Amino acid sequence: MTARTHDLAAITALGVVFVSGPARTITLATAIAAVFANPVGGITPDIDQPTAPFWRNLPVGRYFGKVFDALTGGHRFLTHSLLGLALFGFAAHWLIIFVHPLTPRVDTGYVWWAFMIGMASHLVMDTFTKEGVPWLLPIPFKFGFPPLKRLRITTGKVAESFVIFPLLILFNVGFYWANYHTVLDILHHRIT
Ligand SMILES: [Zn+2]
Repeated sequence: MTARTHDLAAITALGVVFVSGPARTITLATAIAAVFANPVGGITPDIDQPTAPFWRNLPVGRYFGKVFDALTGGHRFLTHSLLGLALFGFAAHWLIIFVHPLTPRVDTGYVWWAFMIGMASHLVMDTFTKEGVPWLLPIPFKFGFPPLKRLRITTGKVAESFVIFPLLILFNVGFYWANYHTVLDILHHRIT
């Protein structure tokens, strides 16, 4: 899937988890940090593509992209598995703890969860594409849904732009409509 779809899927998943979850109060700094960490998690699995937007935006990104590609075993490999999710979860945990002294009002736990929800949503979305996702690496089998490859999405093609993306938007509209009062309560009372 394209970066745009992954961003939208990540923020959709974060919204659903937070709004449907138990009522919690968080600081505004935490909310802002979580909203930024979430799409970063959402695009992280694609750092194994030398041409990924993640790398393209860095000055020597192409070079590092190639190195990373070799290290992670090419596209749709380690970063697209539960093992990769655990490894990046571990790395993100330490990175967040490391920068925490600079941002004392941020609750690191929420930021970590926002990152992980973003990253997990990426694997779920890629499962709907033709290539599938090697969820259970080192077992080298790529899972896809629906199981019949023919029925799955081709990244960047019509079905993604005109079906998946609009469906995600529609889902958000419906979801926030249905949870309007909860969202109001969050904005008014639960972000301090
Ligand atoms: Zn991907």
